[in-house]
Amino acid sequence: MHVRKLKGFRDILPAETPVWQQVESAVRRVFGRYGFEELRLPLLEETALFRRSIGEATDIVEKEMYTFTDTGGTSVTLRPEGTASAVRAYLENGLHRSDPKQRLYYLGPMFRRERPQKGRLRQFHQIGAECFGWEEPEADADVLCLLWDLFAELGLSGRVRLEVNTLGCAADRQSYVERLRASLAGRTDDLCENCRRRLGTNPLRVLDCKSPRCQEATVDAPAILDGACPECTAHFDRVRELLSIQGVPHAVNPRMVRGLDYYNRTTFELLSGDLGAQNAVAAGGRYDGLAETLGGPRLPALGFAAGIERLVLLLGDARPHDGPVAYLVHRGEGAVAEALRLRRELAKAGLRADLDYQARSFKAQLRAADRRGARFALILGEDEMAGGTVTVKDLAEGTQTSVPAAGLAAYLGNHGAGC
Ligand code: ATP
Ligand code: MG
Repeated sequence: MHVRKLKGFRDILPAETPVWQQVESAVRRVFGRYGFEELRLPLLEETALFRRSIGEATDIVEKEMYTFTDTGGTSVTLRPEGTASAVRAYLENGLHRSDPKQRLYYLGPMFRRERPQKGRLRQFHQIGAECFGWEEPEADADVLCLLWDLFAELGLSGRVRLEVNTLGCAADRQSYVERLRASLAGRTDDLCENCRRRLGTNPLRVLDCKSPRCQEATVDAPAILDGACPECTAHFDRVRELLSIQGVPHAVNPRMVRGLDYYNRTTFELLSGDLGAQNAVAAGGRYDGLAETLGGPRLPALGFAAGIERLVLLLGDARPHDGPVAYLVHRGEGAVAEALRLRRELAKAGLRADLDYQARSFKAQLRAADRRGARFALILGEDEMAGGTVTVKDLAEGTQTSVPAAGLAAYLGNHGAGC
């Protein structure tokens, strides 16, 4: 029997990893400039963490979590997102005691048992940022600038649009839920089965449903913003004002609620027209009540997560594969050992060289050099071994020259070869 990978899980092959590395290094650069420090979190947590924070009546908790009981009898879950773990780690390690204000980021796999399709997997990867300790709208604006600048760094700012909304405070949402229920009361027949049930348990989720009929049924639903309290309205207005001052284009989407229960006030999504149905590349918002929900002190906070698979789809895999600078071609007594030695020497000098361990014909090895995209072939035959030299063949120019083995790294360095 042939064992295959699980549905919704992927191998990221060498042809694709350069784009991933490009994304990861851009992320580290931009986060570093904005003063965010990296946090590395466990992949497995107690199930209670996610149930409590994400909310019982959400898609994630109701049907998407990989939950099992370990042999010790504890219910554990593969993390479906990073914010709950980040807040847990912050509280558990007492980071708030040394300095309640912290900017943190993480990068890594998340797990949700959803229906796999383009841009939707069961193991996917997120970049996440969390900004702890500030209530001020300036923090919201700064995090949104960071998100925008991250996409600019990747050359993607022309391919995405930013939508923002406010969910107000708990009191705003309570009164909103009543208005929403009233507005949907006459349209229950148009809602999917799940939303009909959610109208009772968690009506905000109806606005987040992906079914076109549910979306159609909520077109005329009231906006939270219209009934938000003066403080929440002022907060939202200030975020928008700051974004305009910073030149970050955005639009208000009064129906955006996000799929997790912990959000309040500012929420946002970065959307792309080039991704088909799964059009959100990044999303986030404020979650001022989450630390208390998890048994900690009051901690105003906000953050976002971006899906790396969707970012990679946007970037495409057009980036050419970098070939090695040199390919060592060896033949005859002692030549393979000398080739290995030279490869190590070139590596120490920061140059990438490649070789075949098998002493195949010159012709086969030169063909391999070409196939790998090497710039130079370094030939080690009987004459070269006897004279302590290497014949350097420039594969682009078709020229060749004899270079003393001892001066090889310097020669390649001078001839424009970098790694
Ligand atoms: P969506 O509306 O696409 O289901 P979501 O509201 O569930 O997204 P979040 O939980 O906020 O999204 O996650 C943030 C980002 O993570 C998304 O914008 C997306 O880029 C990515 N993401 C979420 N779920 C998946 C998945 N199953 N496969 C790939 N990427 C995902
Ligand atoms: Mg989702």
